[in-house]
Amino acid sequence: MPKVFHDNDEGFLGWRDANPTGFVVSCALEPRTAYVILHQTKCEVLAGDPPRGERWTSPQKKVCGESVIELEDWSRRAVGTSPQRCGSCLWPSRARKWSVDLAS
Ligand SMILES: [Zn+2]
Repeated sequence: MPKVFHDNDEGFLGWRDANPTGFVVSCALEPRTAYVILHQTKCEVLAGDPPRGERWTSPQKKVCGESVIELEDWSRRAVGTSPQRCGSCLWPSRARKWSVDLAS
């Protein structure tokens, strides 16, 4: 089961650092199709500190899993469709380079 972090940056950062080969979905607290984005844990978007003094897990949340399939299933249940691929870490050419399994 994916782990959901809301208003819990410490929990999210702990998971991120413990699961460098995992995957992270960013979405609103009540997920909407237009904003459900799948990243690799090591995505530059998720590295370091959140932009502009914001928080990682508020008001949005992070849904974390060890596999793409796990998060695809979560997304289909939550919003009825697959998550969007991050244009930075899961753009097809880069994903191939990193040998990511994008089976859906
Ligand atoms: Zn990304």
